[in-house]
Amino acid sequence: MNATEKKAAYNLADYNSERTSFSWKNIESKLELGKTKGGYNIAHLAVDRHANTSLKSTLAFRFIQKDRSPQDYSYSRLKEETSRFANVLRSLGIQKGETVFSLAGRIPALYITALGTLKTTAVFCPLFSVFGPEPVFQRLHKGEAKILVTTSALYEKTVKQLEERLPFLRYIILSDLEEHQSGKVLSWSRLMKEASSDFKIPPTSPEDPALLHFTSGTTGMPKGTLHVHKAVLTHYITGKFVLDFHQGDLFWCTADPGWVTGTSYGIIAPLVNGVTSIIDQEEFDAMRWYAILEEQKVNIWYTAPTAIRRLMRMEIKPREKFNLGALRVILSVGEPLSAEAVLWGEHSFGIPILDNWWQTETGGIMIANYPSMPVRPGSMGKPLPGIEAALAEVTEDGLNFIKEPGKQGHLLLKKGFPSLFRDYLHEEERYHKCFTGEWYLTGDLAKKDSDGYFWFIGRADDIIKTSGHMVGPFEVESTLMRHPAIAEAAVIGKPEASIGELVKAFVVLKPGEPTNEEMKLDIIGFARKHMGPAVAPKEIEFIASVPKTRSGKILRRLLKARELGLPEGDTSTLEQT
Ligand code: AMP
Repeated sequence: MNATEKKAAYNLADYNSERTSFSWKNIESKLELGKTKGGYNIAHLAVDRHANTSLKSTLAFRFIQKDRSPQDYSYSRLKEETSRFANVLRSLGIQKGETVFSLAGRIPALYITALGTLKTTAVFCPLFSVFGPEPVFQRLHKGEAKILVTTSALYEKTVKQLEERLPFLRYIILSDLEEHQSGKVLSWSRLMKEASSDFKIPPTSPEDPALLHFTSGTTGMPKGTLHVHKAVLTHYITGKFVLDFHQGDLFWCTADPGWVTGTSYGIIAPLVNGVTSIIDQEEFDAMRWYAILEEQKVNIWYTAPTAIRRLMRMEIKPREKFNLGALRVILSVGEPLSAEAVLWGEHSFGIPILDNWWQTETGGIMIANYPSMPVRPGSMGKPLPGIEAALAEVTEDGLNFIKEPGKQGHLLLKKGFPSLFRDYLHEEERYHKCFTGEWYLTGDLAKKDSDGYFWFIGRADDIIKTSGHMVGPFEVESTLMRHPAIAEAAVIGKPEASIGELVKAFVVLKPGEPTNEEMKLDIIGFARKHMGPAVAPKEIEFIASVPKTRSGKILRRLLKARELGLPEGDTSTLEQT
């Protein structure tokens, strides 16, 4: 295929004309929402709709087990199992809008719970299986969980001790229990055996609540973010335009459903587009990951900067050791992807890694580098057709929109797109504070270049104000990462009377590098040369590892709290290393 043919084969072949002609109404008609019985129901559009077509024997999910053997679910099998689980929930009295939680690794029961719950019009909320008792309690309590699906081991370790404090929790279903343990602690297999595989999805309206996600907690206490069934329109269209799903594709989203990416793109978007998802049940392991890409002939791979940085550090040349010829698109989300990482992708896989930006609150991808457009390394790309993004100064009198290229401001999205969150659970005031007129304030700072590409600066809360400059920690971190001895870096602002805040860098050195004064001076010198003295860190501290959330985001507020001797705040999403 030559370059022109290749471009025409992309779902989003011409960004500008698609943006001009795009309407969410057209997407509704494409999904034939008016004609099908399930209406807007996400599970209907993701599963049942396909199980009655030629896709019925196509694989929906392929779970890769510890020994790398597959466990397969076709669309028709998934329809049956999710209907069974929907009947289980009905038999246990679950009503529309009530919440069903999961606390499990990436096992089939988690995925069946998600889709079966959606079928009943109850609300699904996934939790990371590595959460300890308190974070699990906070979320089950806040979300008023009625049913929890988990494993026997996690029940014993985490949930059992919380039961008395959770009066709303009616049933706990254990995925690996043969027989019911009590009237409350039930066996998944027993319930599923007794349930019918026929389930009629009740009429579901676009605004019916569907998903509850807790944010990663980089800026404070995790918030319970509520999404509605209509969000599926964003999942569908971003699957087409950004992930470039085509029939027959094998897709691997490495995210755990405990983070919104693992639900929107690990479950819903690929199913709505009728492709096959690979789900690895194990944690990150570079050689295993490359082997899966090769063995499963993955076409589209969606991962995160934290994993990419780890792969970069390993210095494995993947194309020399593995046949990765099936890979067509590689994407990244969750944190800024440095230009070096984009270029490393090009060098290592023969295709660049495409960065895209979104948040738990937006429910789906909003700004992206598209496979059909030349990648702009270091930029998060352009807004999706149907999404209006703008930059503004936020003042007491309202918004001052920024028109000049290169000037940074608050990143805003125009309300009205389907996957925008509808509530922060029990925090109405906080929710309303996110909106000014018809704009949603994302809490991030960004700039836009003269070609319309957006560039991430930082979370507004993380920005460092030093000697009259506004410094985004990410720009300092990515420069530091180019120093040959540095493996990882995290940067904060430390209050300093004369200059406002001083830039301080926490640095993890590569194995064998000396943690001495000379190294500190060398790093400071390197930073000054590349960034100038105003922005370069004035203080360096060596640490063993950078604290991150389970979804791989640097927890700068934790480093800052430790630095200033302040309370650490909520650390429930902290990854244990
Ligand atoms: P969460 O909702 O927990 O996934 O966090 C969303 C936040 O992660 C965003 O508001 C950004 O601060 C950050 N983020 C996500 N994707 C990107 C990206 N591609 N580039 C820079 N920051 C990102």
